[in-house]
Amino acid sequence: MSTETVIECRQVSKNYITREGVTPALENISFTVEKGEFITLLGPSGCGKSTILSLLSGLIRPSTGSVLVRGREVIRPLREVGYMLQQDYLLGWRTIKQNVQLGLEFQHKRIKEHEEDALSLLNEMGLSAYLHYYPGQLSGGMRQRVALARTLATNPDLLLLDEPFSALDFSTRLRLEDLVIDTLRKKNKTAVFVTHDISEAIAMSDRIIILTSQPGRIKKILDIPPVLRDPLPFDTRDIPEFQTYFQYVWKVMNEHESETSTTSYT
Ligand code: ADP
Ligand code: MG
Repeated sequence: MSTETVIECRQVSKNYITREGVTPALENISFTVEKGEFITLLGPSGCGKSTILSLLSGLIRPSTGSVLVRGREVIRPLREVGYMLQQDYLLGWRTIKQNVQLGLEFQHKRIKEHEEDALSLLNEMGLSAYLHYYPGQLSGGMRQRVALARTLATNPDLLLLDEPFSALDFSTRLRLEDLVIDTLRKKNKTAVFVTHDISEAIAMSDRIIILTSQPGRIKKILDIPPVLRDPLPFDTRDIPEFQTYFQYVWKVMNEHESETSTTSYT
């Protein structure tokens, strides 16, 4: 089976220019993502992970280099990209069902077939009993499941997931990791996921891009071995190789202590 390159980042750098001066956020970032891959950007706070997602989504442009999605340079936000953030951004005055239909409305896709897909997504997320509830009546984990359903409702080929679980308690997080991976695998979606959590990165990913900070550079790109890649994230954490791999990633992230000793991992 031939692979299809969905994302290509070519020697991308990004400087933010503000009144205080220039912040070099990213330097010489190059990587590709193939169709169906789940790739994680792992690195300390401030290393430019969210900036990479903003570049991939077309919300901002690189200072130098180029970003291509399916071979075409990204110069504006693309419809085939779904973005999910740490905060769920659900609208408090709309019901769960209406929130999930929001993306369809923006894209003028409110036809019966899509509406049915949206409802079946809510069903897959275990939310069919809550269609007429308001976001304020749901727990954090349920709200993120609604946000995931909303992101998937427009049927994006590419998902950008920016620390979507970081505000959740640990057990909710573990359950959502499995739900996300299971759903994306079944639908053969491509995803770029952001986290600063090594365990989460290993449990979920096909590949991990480890970044250094200020400016963010690629320190290493790691292929996750099949023994850790194939099971669902919860089961991956139970495999003996998981601990070994964790130690390895930890070591890679903390090489050159002098560079990283002042960096916080929160
Ligand atoms: P991460 O997501 O890894 O925490 P970010 O991509 O948010 O990192 O930020 C990378 C660097 O760029 C940080 O130093 C941050 O302060 C800076 N930065 C991010 N967004 C902006 C912006 N809109 N204007 C100026 N500086 C920014
Ligand atoms: Mg961020």
